[in-house]
Amino acid sequence: MDISVRHLAKEFDGFRALHDVSLDIRSGELIALLGPSGSGKTTLLRLIAGLEFPSAGTIRFGQEDASLKSVQERNVGFVFQHYALFKHMSVADNIGFGLSVRPRATRPSRAEIRRRAAELLDLVQLPGLGERYPAQLSGGQRQRVALARALAIEPRVLLLDEPFGALDAKVRRELRRWLRELHDRTGHTTVFVTHDQDEALELADRVVVMSQGRIEQVGSAADIHDRPASPFVFSFVGSSNILPVEVRGGEIAYRGTVLGRTEDADGPRSLFVRPYDLELVSDGAPGIGGTVSLARRSGGSRIIEIETPDDGRIELELPAEAPGSVGDRIAVRPRRWHLFEAAASRADAPV
Ligand code: ATP
Repeated sequence: MDISVRHLAKEFDGFRALHDVSLDIRSGELIALLGPSGSGKTTLLRLIAGLEFPSAGTIRFGQEDASLKSVQERNVGFVFQHYALFKHMSVADNIGFGLSVRPRATRPSRAEIRRRAAELLDLVQLPGLGERYPAQLSGGQRQRVALARALAIEPRVLLLDEPFGALDAKVRRELRRWLRELHDRTGHTTVFVTHDQDEALELADRVVVMSQGRIEQVGSAADIHDRPASPFVFSFVGSSNILPVEVRGGEIAYRGTVLGRTEDADGPRSLFVRPYDLELVSDGAPGIGGTVSLARRSGGSRIIEIETPDDGRIELELPAEAPGSVGDRIAVRPRRWHLFEAAASRADAPV
């Protein structure tokens, strides 16, 4: 089911949680809404679900204007972080619940509902657990049952709000991989909310990065990571160093030292560099100079911080064998970077 969101806005008692959001989701896509707390991800998801209604704008499901339709009319399945299963019902009854409360005319027989529940338990890889109760399942198993329950109504769209947020890191990673496989098998148009950039970049076909009730960028993991549309996106999806530079005649100068070339027009800019895109320069060669204030191992790399005279700390991620101890004076150069308007400063970067 294609979903088309146009100029969507949502106000709560005068507070604008969403501003003029437009987004096209293609049938069968797995889309992540990614952003910090309060950026409007859940509000957008709830508007798509029909749990809230827009203050302005429209939501279309295919050709149909769904903006003011109820959750049932939209036929969406959803799973929340803490969408508790009914404790007093068996797993099979939980999964069949949505079907068993349908009006008589469209309600399947009890036998049919049991058959569907068993099929869905196979699909979410919990075969034979239908007679258990939620308390007899692990957290990860419960979320898989919640997904089976969402799928039971044969939804046109599957909406997930931090579905694995309450689980520990290992189970979370397993379920991520599992959700991707499940999606590839069933092909449901799926929108999920997360504030975890790894989860979004690993799982989604396209990521929607949100900040302060607006969409900052929509793109593949590669687009978001390698071609960030704004300083916010660059900083949100990885660590970054931000340095004031001047572009003049195609050269990028940092406090008088030329670091590289650009086709940008002349003027002040902010240079955004990832820690692993900085390299050491040999003695005396031009670079960004500073004193090593921290050096530690991290997996297969060395993380070094240098204190610059004018611009605070810069973080480098170097190969494990790279030299440099606390107190050494070293200089570095960026291999790759992004230039943004000079107004972008550390203060704008998300924490
Ligand atoms: P989180 O990751 O913390 O869930 P989020 O990106 O999903 O954050 P939303 O829950 O969409 O953000 O909230 C966006 C803004 O709207 C927040 O400032 C929030 O306080 C506000 N908001 C959301 N729902 C309501 C409501 N029912 N009444 C008033 N304000 C609300």
